[in-house]
Amino acid sequence: MICLVKVRHGKPRKFGKGSRPCKRCGQYGPVIQKYDLMLCRQCFREVAPKMGFRKYE
Ligand SMILES: [Zn+2]
Repeated sequence: MICLVKVRHGKPRKFGKGSRPCKRCGQYGPVIQKYDLMLCRQCFREVAPKMGFRKYE
């Protein structure tokens, strides 16, 4: 019996939950990727008004 399935561990994910850090504070978590913002919710709340966004929630 030959196992042809290779273990796919250790491969860095480019997409998915928590795979990207906030580009403002560097924290991993729920990063908003809408509009290519790449900001966590907290940073988004601070930056959004300056960018002309209205209340997110
Ligand atoms: Zn942040």
